[in-house]
Amino acid sequence: MLSNRPSLIFANAIGFIEANVIAINEGCTLSAEDKVLVSEFSRSGIGFFEAQTVGKVPNLADGGRFHEVPLVIRRDPIFGGQTRFVLGSKLQPEEATDLTPIITAPGFCPFCPDKIDYVTYPFPAEIVAEGKIMRGRSIVVPNILSYSTYSAVGVYDRTKHFVAMEEMDSELVGDLLTGMVDHAKAVRTFDPDARYSSINANYLPPSGSSLLHPHVQSSHDYLPLSSQGHLIDEMAQFKAETGRGLLGALVEAESDLKVRFVGEWGSVSIITPFAPVGFREVWIVSRIEGDIVDLDDSQVADFARALAFVIKGYVALNLQSFNFAMTGSGDAKEVGGNVILRIVARSNPAATYRSDVTYFERLYNESMIDVTPEETASFLRG
Ligand SMILES: [Zn+2]
Repeated sequence: MLSNRPSLIFANAIGFIEANVIAINEGCTLSAEDKVLVSEFSRSGIGFFEAQTVGKVPNLADGGRFHEVPLVIRRDPIFGGQTRFVLGSKLQPEEATDLTPIITAPGFCPFCPDKIDYVTYPFPAEIVAEGKIMRGRSIVVPNILSYSTYSAVGVYDRTKHFVAMEEMDSELVGDLLTGMVDHAKAVRTFDPDARYSSINANYLPPSGSSLLHPHVQSSHDYLPLSSQGHLIDEMAQFKAETGRGLLGALVEAESDLKVRFVGEWGSVSIITPFAPVGFREVWIVSRIEGDIVDLDDSQVADFARALAFVIKGYVALNLQSFNFAMTGSGDAKEVGGNVILRIVARSNPAATYRSDVTYFERLYNESMIDVTPEETASFLRG
C-alpha cells in the first residue's frame, strides 16, 4: 500500500527506479543532472518509499571544498512519518553516564517500600477486586494524573527505588506486563467502550519520566491516541483492500527482505522499522491478530522475553534511557489488528546532554537518525 499523500519534497523528483532491496550505504548514485532519486517498491502489499539525494557541505580534509554527501530520506509505510539519515554523524552517546547522582538524589518517592502502601490507592472493587495488582515484585496501582479515562501505573519493583536496565530480565518485565494486561482486561470488562488501550513507558528523565523509580503507564480511552488512531485507519484500509492484516503483512515483508528482521520469540517477531522515528528503534509485533486484552499469559511472556532482549541490546550499546509504546485496538478483530510494541532509545542522562528531539522531530514530524535500521537489526542478530 503506497501512501497517496502529496509531498512537496519529492515534487521535483526526476528519477524513479524499482528496487527489491534498498541499501543506503552504497553511496551516492546520482548523476550530475539528478537532484533526487526516488525508489519505491512493494512487498506483501506494503509500500516502501526512499529518496536519495545529497547534502552539499565543505570538506575539512579538502581545504573546505564543497563535497556531496549522501542524504537518504524514507517514509514509514505504517505511520507515514519521514526520516532522514545523516551519514557519518555521531548523534548518540558512546559512553554510559554515571547514574549515581540521579538515583541517590533525595526526594519524595511514592513507589518506594516505605511509602507505596500509604500514598497509593486501590482500584475501585467493582473494577479490580484485589484492589492493587501484584505480580512478583511488581505492583499496579491507579495513576493520579488524569491523562486518560482509565489509567494505571505499574512499578517494576516495589521493594527498591532503582531498577537498572541490566536488571530488566524477562521475569521482571513479564511480571509487570502481566499485571498491566490484567488491569487492562479488568477495565475493559467494566467499561467495554474504553476500547483504545496502550501500555507505555518513560525510563529516566531524558525520556520524559517525572518519577525516577522505574515504572510504566497505561491508557484506556473512548478515543484513540493520535498515532493509535492512524494505525487503526491504516489497518482498516489495508484489510479492505487486501483482506489481510497490515502488521501481519509487514512482518511477512520484513521476514522476506531479511535486512531488518531480527527473529521470532514465540508468538512475536522482532524487526527494526524502515524509517525509525527514534534512535535504535525496534518493533515487537504479535503474529496473532487481536487486542492487548486478547493476549494470554504466554503471549504476554513472549512480549516480555523480546522486550528484555532488546533492552539487553541497549545496555550493550551504553544506552540508558528509553520509551516504549505497546499499542492495541478495540477494533482489532474488524481491522485485522495485531498488538505492536515500539521501543526507542533516548539521550543518556548526562549533566549536559543533547536532547534527541530537535526542531526536526518536534515541529516537522521528521526524524534525523545516524544509525540505519539495518545496522541495528544486524547488531541485535549478533
Ligand atoms: Zn522509589
